[in-house]
Amino acid sequence: MSNCIFCKIVAGTIPATKLYEDDDVLAFMDIGPIVKGHVLVIPKTHTETIGQTPPETLAKVIAVVRRMARAQQAGLGADGINIHQSNGAAAGQVVPHIHFHVIPRFKHDGHHWNWTAQSYADPSEVAALADRIKAALD
Ligand code: AMP
Ligand code: ZN
Repeated sequence: MSNCIFCKIVAGTIPATKLYEDDDVLAFMDIGPIVKGHVLVIPKTHTETIGQTPPETLAKVIAVVRRMARAQQAGLGADGINIHQSNGAAAGQVVPHIHFHVIPRFKHDGHHWNWTAQSYADPSEVAALADRIKAALD
């Protein structure tokens, strides 16, 4: 993808602070960290969403996500790690090249997810939604 910013980072035509790369996967520092030390992990081949990315590729990416999380704990002393991944503009995806955020968390880092739990009207509502998801499994 010639106009994809992450493909340009893979190609080396724009700079990034790279942490790790192999034939399939690249990890680099997020330029706008939620918490300092925030890392992005991407497949080198351009796909946009998790649903468009082959499971074999995702397995390689997740292995690097795990290594980054362990390194943030061992190297930065992170008390916890958030893994975040958005698919589509409706989900807040800004860069349309699949990426996993690996975010080191510290007891007093001041970050709070704006995560407000909703509730189901009754048990039939959750069951109906579960049935629709199960019926669509491929
Ligand atoms: P998302 O909202 O999940 O699409 O996240 C995109 C992420 O890419 C944001 O956290 C940005 O800070 C990050 N980002 C955008 N451009 C760059 C860049 N050139 N180098 C590093 N990180 C970037
Ligand atoms: Zn791309």
